[in-house]
Amino acid sequence: MAEFPEPAPRRVFLETYGCQMNVADAELVGGVLRRHGYLRTEDPAQADVLLLNTCAIRERAEERVLGRLSELLRFKIERPAVQLGVLGCMASHLRERLLDRAPYLDVIVGPDGYRDLPALLDDAVDPRIDVRLDRGETYADLAPDHAAGPRAWLSVMRGCDKFCTFCVVPLTRGRERSLPPDAVVAQVEAAVAGGKREIVFLGQTVNAYRSNDVDFGGLLRLAAQVDGLERIRFTSPHPAEVSDSLIAAMVDERKVMPYIHMPLQSASDRILHEMARDYTVADYRALLARLREAIPDLAVSTDLIVGFPGEDESDYAATADFLAEARYDFAYLFKYSARPGTRAFKMTETVTEEEKGRRLKELIERQEQVSLEKNQDQVGREVEVMVEGPARRPTGHLVGKSRNFKTTVFPDDGALPGDLVRVRVESASGHTLLAR
Ligand code: SF4
Repeated sequence: MAEFPEPAPRRVFLETYGCQMNVADAELVGGVLRRHGYLRTEDPAQADVLLLNTCAIRERAEERVLGRLSELLRFKIERPAVQLGVLGCMASHLRERLLDRAPYLDVIVGPDGYRDLPALLDDAVDPRIDVRLDRGETYADLAPDHAAGPRAWLSVMRGCDKFCTFCVVPLTRGRERSLPPDAVVAQVEAAVAGGKREIVFLGQTVNAYRSNDVDFGGLLRLAAQVDGLERIRFTSPHPAEVSDSLIAAMVDERKVMPYIHMPLQSASDRILHEMARDYTVADYRALLARLREAIPDLAVSTDLIVGFPGEDESDYAATADFLAEARYDFAYLFKYSARPGTRAFKMTETVTEEEKGRRLKELIERQEQVSLEKNQDQVGREVEVMVEGPARRPTGHLVGKSRNFKTTVFPDDGALPGDLVRVRVESASGHTLLAR
C-alpha cells in the first residue's frame, strides 16, 4: 500500500504591538500553536499563517497595524493559501468593522479567544471571528512559551473593572478575573525549572488580584517561597488598590523588588474625577509617602496624560508641579487620544493637538532632568544587578537591571544571564547607570 508523507508543519509568523500584557499573550498564543504542531518563523515570507497581536489604546497604534497588514498582504497575494489574522485588543475593539479596512483577513480573534485559535485556522469558513469576552477565561491551564532570557512574564489576572473614562481596555479585555494561586505557583515553578530567575506578574490592574482568600500581597508571598526564584516584579498596579497587604509583602519579602509603577494620569482633582480614577491627589500623595517610608530605595514610575477634555492651564500646571514634587524615577507621558466606545469619547475635546504637544514636551523635559538626578543619586553605591546579556553599548559590557529596575551596564567579567552580580555605580545618564 502506498504511504503518504506527513504534511509539513505549518509555520506561523507572530508580531506583537502594545503593552507587556500583549507580549505575554503572544507567548501564550505561541504555546497554543506549538502544541498544535505549528513552528514559529521570524520571516513572513516563510510563513503559512501571519498574525498581528494588536493594541487599541491609541488611534496611532491601530493605524500602524493597518499599515502593517497592507504590507503583509503581498505574501497572501503571492501565495493565496497564506492566512492573515488580527489578534488582541484591536480585534475586540473593531470586531467585524476591521473587515471594512482589511477585507482580506482570515481570522479576527480577541484576547479571550486564543484557546480556539488553531480550530479557527483549520475551519474552512471565512472570515473566522471570535471576539466574545469570557469572564471565566484565565488560561490558567495553558503554559506560555517564554522568550529567551532570565525574566518571565506571567499574567496572573486579566481584564479590568475600573472603566476609567479614557480607556478602552475594559471594552477590549473584559472584566477582571484572577488565576487560582496554585496555578500561578505552578507556572512560576515551571518557569524556574526552565531556567528563569525573575518573574513579572502582569495584570491590567494587577493588584486587584484576588482568588478566594488570597489577595495580591498573599500571592507575592506564595511566589517568594519558590526555590530558585530570585526576583519578583509586578505591573501595573492601580493606586486605589494598593493595600496594606501588598505593602507588607514588599517590605517582608526580599525577593519582591523595590520598584512600583503608580499611574497618576493627572494631578488635578477635577480631571481625576472626570477620568473616574477613584483617588484624589491627596490620596495619591499620602500613598506615595507611605510607600517610600516603608520601602527603602523604592523606585517609582508613573503614567500621565496631557490634554484630557477640559484640562485647562491650571489643571496642567498642577500636573507639571506634581511631577516635580513626586520625583519619579521615570514616567510614561502621553497625549490624550479619544477612543471610540469610551465615556470620554463623548466629551468635547478642548485642547488642540498643538497645545497637547507643547504640554507633553514640557513634561518630558522636566522628567528627563529628574530621571538624571535620581540616577546620579546612585553614583558611588553598590547595587545588585541581574545579568541579562551583552550590552549594545559600550562593547565588551554586560547589561542588567538593578533591584529598583535601573538599566545598569558594566564590564563583561564572564557573568551569565540570570547571574546576580554586585557592581559599584560610577556614573549615570537619565536612562542608564554605568558601573564597575
Ligand atoms: S485601570 Fe483604568 S487605565 Fe488601567 S486598564 Fe483599567 S480602565 Fe484602563
